[in-house]
Amino acid sequence: MSINRRRFLELGLGATAISLPATASGQSGQESELRSQVGCLVDTTLCVGCRKCEEACNRSNRLARPERPFTDRHVFREERRPTADAFTIVNSYPGEPSRVQLERDETFVKVQCLHCVDPACVSGCIVGALTKSAEGPVLYEADICIGCRYCMVACPFEIPAYEYLDPVAPRVRKCTYCVDDTERTGPQPACAAACPMEAIQFGPRVDVMALAHQRIEQRPDRYIDHVYGEHEVGGTSWVYLAGRPMAEVGMMDLPKEAPPRLTESIQHGIFNYGAVPLALYGGLAGLMWLTHRRQGADDDE
Ligand code: SF4
Ligand code: SF4
Ligand code: SF4
Repeated sequence: MSINRRRFLELGLGATAISLPATASGQSGQESELRSQVGCLVDTTLCVGCRKCEEACNRSNRLARPERPFTDRHVFREERRPTADAFTIVNSYPGEPSRVQLERDETFVKVQCLHCVDPACVSGCIVGALTKSAEGPVLYEADICIGCRYCMVACPFEIPAYEYLDPVAPRVRKCTYCVDDTERTGPQPACAAACPMEAIQFGPRVDVMALAHQRIEQRPDRYIDHVYGEHEVGGTSWVYLAGRPMAEVGMMDLPKEAPPRLTESIQHGIFNYGAVPLALYGGLAGLMWLTHRRQGADDDE
């Protein structure tokens, strides 16, 4: 791991920006284990859809500038997903003003890789190009990647994107947690630092979780009692609060179990038994082909 990456993670785990409730210290078991990992809380009730986070992410990761400026709100007309040139995007979900959703009649939701606690993309990668660091971020090494894109099939959140238009060395692309941002000056990733509403809180995951529950407890009129990502697919590093049911704001209804169990069993079977798991991989390849076709259609559009 580069010095820059190590520095980011040390800064993150030492972050003190979060005002912690009394219950946030002294955990044990899994919580204690997760104290060594960073996390982010996205409070969608605070987000105003300014897209400053998108712009900061674009700059931090030196991505291609979009055709339309980040101030263009027409993008909210359709639901978007992260792409190879946009590691994070913000979607808008119109609806009745609910609870204390201020005077707005829409909820804005920032989307990026959630850096799962037990990531399916990591288990799905047969060459180890994706790894879960001890500090939380799920990291990608382009030099190791063979372009099979099983990670894209495995991800339950449909996050990883692929550089289909690069004929020489296409990469899988997703949120990096800004670990490679050489201009970083503080502990926060670029999107969190840029948010004018402080809708993104960064720090140790256990503190982020404690903050989320503190907000729900203090403002039950404002939030539904659900921290998205606390349990979904075994837990995620990025977690969400909302004033409406999560399904209404684009958050997938997912089980508590981590999907790596499936991908691992396929992967291990390939090397142990050969034929039957190869058929399973054939199925995954079919899924990839469909994904590729869908991506191709999207690109054509
Ligand atoms: S959200 Fe998808 S790409 Fe990100 S860590 Fe989880 S499985 Fe991997
Ligand atoms: S953490 Fe960094 S890479 Fe990830 S969405 Fe935020 S700005 Fe983009
Ligand atoms: S910068 Fe903050 S308020 Fe603006 S769209 Fe992103 S998360 Fe929402």
